[in-house]
Amino acid sequence: MKKLSIIVPCYNEQETIDIYLQEMKQVESNMSLEFEYLFVNDGSKDETLVRLKEAANKYTNVNYISFSRNFGKEAALLAGLEAVTGDLITVMDVDLQDPPELLPEMYEKIEEGYDIVGTRRSNRVGEPVLRSFFAKKFFQVINRISDTEMVDGARDFRLMTRQVVDAILELNEVNRFSKGIFSWVGFDTYYISYENRERSAGETTWNFWSLFKYSLEGIINFSEAPLTFATLVGLGSCIISILAMIYFFLDNLVKQNPVPGWPSLVCIILFLGGLQLFCLGIVGKYIGKIFTEVKKRPNYIIKESHCKRED
Ligand code: UDP
Ligand code: MG
Repeated sequence: MKKLSIIVPCYNEQETIDIYLQEMKQVESNMSLEFEYLFVNDGSKDETLVRLKEAANKYTNVNYISFSRNFGKEAALLAGLEAVTGDLITVMDVDLQDPPELLPEMYEKIEEGYDIVGTRRSNRVGEPVLRSFFAKKFFQVINRISDTEMVDGARDFRLMTRQVVDAILELNEVNRFSKGIFSWVGFDTYYISYENRERSAGETTWNFWSLFKYSLEGIINFSEAPLTFATLVGLGSCIISILAMIYFFLDNLVKQNPVPGWPSLVCIILFLGGLQLFCLGIVGKYIGKIFTEVKKRPNYIIKESHCKRED
């Protein structure tokens, strides 16, 4: 029987873990796969670890890894992918926003020969309007400026073969933007759509600011377009200033007009100064990425883990 490893990142999820496992156990009994759960406790401040220990005592196929602090979902995913041993691997949120009942259908598609079966939300019901709006815009922008295609509404919830996961682990960059990495590796992908769900319990950890930073992360990790933009803006303002110089020179020389006073000068200096700082900021963002990349710090630190191995 093939083994399915399920990676579940958890941050302050004490209320959702039991509900999640109850649902999953039903799906598990209807599938002819050996299930293995790996919960990654991402430095939760509540009783998440206690709940995980209880679950690991109750079920033989529940394992967990616990981080020394909160390293973020990306780190949790990576830790999971590095630790699991299954022939098939899936990544799921614990709040049941990734519907477990899709798993049989996803597995069917893998059996048909697909390497990855992803899921995408067909709508964003229940999500704040502003968040939906910016999410849509983000996908439009990133798909225009990056070679890596990212599917709007695609979740991290996906079923992958061992070969795909090994390919993902080959990418050893420190700044990990999973949505991009998952699609960068390629392979035959099939998407299943489903209606958006609200959380089973607890609250989302994302706010507007964290999502904004997350999307910047995506753009900088998967596109050099902002650098091109900075270059073009610099070039553009150079050309404009040369034209203006010629104009004022002739105006003064031919028509004997006096050169107009300092307010326009101040505006132009301030504008160009601002533009320079802005472009410098863009360059700085990339240098910052290089900095974290060369430091090669580990993405996470494991404080304790409970992984039963049959070997
Ligand atoms: N999560 C995590 N570390 C974090 C934030 C979130 O491991 O720093 C987990 C969280 O426990 C959940 C999943 O990532 O299983 C998705 O988080 P959430 O539901 O808050 O995000 P949303 O569904 O609103 O995008
Ligand atoms: Mg959620």
